[in-house]
Amino acid sequence: MLTKALNTELPQYSRYDGAEKLNLLGLAPGELKYFFEGLGEKPYRARQVMHWVYRRGVLDFHGMTDLSVQFRKRLDLVATLDLPEIAHTDRSKDGTTKWLVNVGSGQAVETVFIPELSRGTLCISSQAGCALDCAFCATGHHGFNRNLTAAEILGQVFLANRGLKIEGAITNIVFMGMGEPLANYRNVMPVAQLLVDDYGFGLSRRRVTISTAGLVPMIYRLAKECNVALAVSLHAPTDDLRDQLVPINKRHPIRQLLKACWYYAEGIASRQITFEYVMLRDINDSLEQARQLTSLVRGRPAKVNLIPFNSFPGAQFQCSSKHVIDEFCQYLRSRGVVTTIRQTRGNDIDAACGQLAGKVENRMRIRLRDKVLKRLS
Ligand code: SAH
Repeated sequence: MLTKALNTELPQYSRYDGAEKLNLLGLAPGELKYFFEGLGEKPYRARQVMHWVYRRGVLDFHGMTDLSVQFRKRLDLVATLDLPEIAHTDRSKDGTTKWLVNVGSGQAVETVFIPELSRGTLCISSQAGCALDCAFCATGHHGFNRNLTAAEILGQVFLANRGLKIEGAITNIVFMGMGEPLANYRNVMPVAQLLVDDYGFGLSRRRVTISTAGLVPMIYRLAKECNVALAVSLHAPTDDLRDQLVPINKRHPIRQLLKACWYYAEGIASRQITFEYVMLRDINDSLEQARQLTSLVRGRPAKVNLIPFNSFPGAQFQCSSKHVIDEFCQYLRSRGVVTTIRQTRGNDIDAACGQLAGKVENRMRIRLRDKVLKRLS
C-alpha cells in the first residue's frame, strides 16, 4: 500500500520500493505532505515533523513527543532522517571553518562557514565535483562525479549548525561551494524551499543565494518556483572571453543570460542580481573591460562583486594586483554601478572561492581506468 502510494504520487522518489527506508531529510514541504498522505496520515503531520527536524534539530522520531508513540514507531519502520558524516574539520586563523563531508563511495564535498561582524555565511556544495569546467576554478579541474541528494545538501546545514554549537550563527546561506546548483535543480530546489519555509529553517529569501555560471533555462524556472537571491558568475564582459573562461557561455551567451537575469530580478525581494567577477591579471582586468562591464549592467537591477582570484595547484592564472582591482572598482562605482570587493577568507585552509576540491573522483577518468583495466585483464 505504502509502496504503491509512493510510486504513483511521488515521481521523484519512484526508486523507493518499500524495501529501504525513505530518508525524509530534504524532502520539500509538498513532498513530505504526500508522504504522510501515502501513509494514510493527515497532511499536517508534515508541518509537525518539519518543526521538529528543522526548528529543533531533532533527527530521531522517538524524540518527537507530540506524535503518538504508535505513529513514531511506524515512522521508524518506513523512514529515516540520515545525515552525511563529517570526515574532517579545518579552522582558519580568520575564524573560517571548513568541513569535509563524506558522501559515500570515496567522494567528499566541502562546506565553509565564514563569520563576519554582522552575519555568518554558510557556503554549501550541490555536486561532488563540477562538469562546467570554468578555467579558473579548482572544483572544475577535478572533474565531476555526481549530483548530491537533497539530504546531502541540506545535511551540510545541519552538520555546520552542530559543529558551530552557537544557535543563530548561520544567518545566510549561499550555494557557492562545489558544483553548479542549477545543474542539480531537482535536488537544490527542495533545499532552497526548506531554507525559506516558515516550518523549515525560516530564513528570509534575501539571505539565501543561489550562484550560477549561467544556466539560462533554469534561471527562468527558478523565477517561477522559488525566488531566492541570485548571483551570476559573469567574469567577462564579452562573449569571446567568456567562452574561454566559463565554457557554458557557448551555449548561453551573455545577451541571453542578462535577459534572464533582468526577468528574474523583477520577482525577487532584493530586486538585484549580484554579478561575480573574478579578477584575473591581464585577462579581464583592464579599464576597457571595466567600461564594457559597466555598459552591460549600468541602470539595471545589478551589483558587481569583484573576487580576487584564489590560486590552487595547477592554476594557470594570477590574481590582479590590489591597485588594479581598486581602479577597476572605482571605475564602476564612478559610473553608478554598485560594486564591492570580496574579502578573501579561509585562504590558509584552502576554503576560499574556487579552492574547494573535496575528494572527487572524476567519473570520466574512472570510465577510462575501467576500460584500461578491462583490456589488461
Ligand atoms: N557554479 C556556481 C557556484 C560556484 S563557486 C557558479 O559558477 O556560480 C562560487 C564563485 O566562486 C563563482 O562565482 C566562481 O566563479 C568563483 N570562483 C571559482 N573559482 C575561483 C577562484 N579560483 N578564485 C576566485 N573565485 C573563484
